[in-house]
Amino acid sequence: MRNILLFILVLIGIFYVRRALRRTGKTGDRAADETRDAPADAPREELVIEQMVPCAHCGLHVPESEGLRGSGGFFCSEEHRRLGSRP
Ligand SMILES: [Zn+2]
Repeated sequence: MRNILLFILVLIGIFYVRRALRRTGKTGDRAADETRDAPADAPREELVIEQMVPCAHCGLHVPESEGLRGSGGFFCSEEHRRLGSRP
């Protein structure tokens, strides 16, 4: 019985040591990855420049993708498209 407990304690000890070793190894890898990724990330961070278009009804500038196109021009919302353009 005593031998089994000792065996379990040894297993737990091995588990903790391995985990600690793996953790230190991982941080080293992460640091290497960051330095490797840094130049690769730079071109990937492309700025999506979206054009701001004024609403034909209220004049509010909204990104082109968020607005709506209507017969009278560009509108900020469905309601303003329904109301139409205003001078
Ligand atoms: Zn509007």
